[in-house]
Amino acid sequence: MYAIAIHGGAGALPWQHLSLELQRRYDSALAVALDRGYAVLADGGSSLDAVTTAVRILEDDPLFNAGRGAALTREGTAELDAAIMDGNTLRAAGVAAVRHVQNPIELARRVMENSRHVLLVGAGAEEFALAEGFELVPNAYFRVPERQAELDLLRGGHSVSELMPVPSGTVGAVARDAHGNLAAATSTGGMADKHPGRVGDSPIIGAGTYARNGACAVSATGHGEFFMRLVAAHHICASVQYRGLSLQEAVHETIHEHLAALGGRGGIIAVDADGRMILDFNTEGMFRAARDSGGRREISL
Ligand code: ASP
Repeated sequence: MYAIAIHGGAGALPWQHLSLELQRRYDSALAVALDRGYAVLADGGSSLDAVTTAVRILEDDPLFNAGRGAALTREGTAELDAAIMDGNTLRAAGVAAVRHVQNPIELARRVMENSRHVLLVGAGAEEFALAEGFELVPNAYFRVPERQAELDLLRGGHSVSELMPVPSGTVGAVARDAHGNLAAATSTGGMADKHPGRVGDSPIIGAGTYARNGACAVSATGHGEFFMRLVAAHHICASVQYRGLSLQEAVHETIHEHLAALGGRGGIIAVDADGRMILDFNTEGMFRAARDSGGRREISL
């Protein structure tokens, strides 16, 4: 069985307020990323390539808070975080607070494959990108009017849930390929109105992103500080591996007990060693989609 699940962020949006037109756009954006990722698996490709493909497509879509369309810092700049992990080898890497890399997930993958490091941040990460032949883009590339409007509203003292036109929109993917290898990837602009230099859970291996063959692969979305304090993604995989919980039990416990107890909000997508996928959240909604070789294909807002 091969399988892929993706998310496009979880949020506090009163879901019924999402216009039909916007719903349709989210639905088709998720469908494209899901099916392109799935096609990699169907062609016998690796879970690593499948999650990279899906996340890259969502980064390029300004609807989502990753790559172009990223949420803005309190100074109005975009600072991007991403991570990827190979469950077969436990190789992993993240990049954080990068301002000029068009596809942070590609850079995270390059750090994993071509460096001795697991986490590169800011200017050093961009130096590495240049040395690896990445073309840097101006920060303005990432900034779209909707995110400026969101920032203006937050600065005006409104809450995101009250007025935000779209949910957070962080993106992620998890997959199991036909060889049984698991992989996870996550990419985000982080929280709107964040302090410059703030890093969330997405690029932190074990917090927002984790994969381990035999256990599971996880990508998180939501209020990153809580996922970091719980080391949530690793906790889920460790619960499957060492406590014998099913993936569903492990995800449910993490979101509805541990996260909820701290007052944290968010969602998780995960796939286990057999290709079973769980997509769960304690927010009003989460953009999510899943497809497997057993015939399951669903897209939900
Ligand atoms: N988890 C991300 C962060 O805290 C944001 C999100 O998923 O909405 O940076």
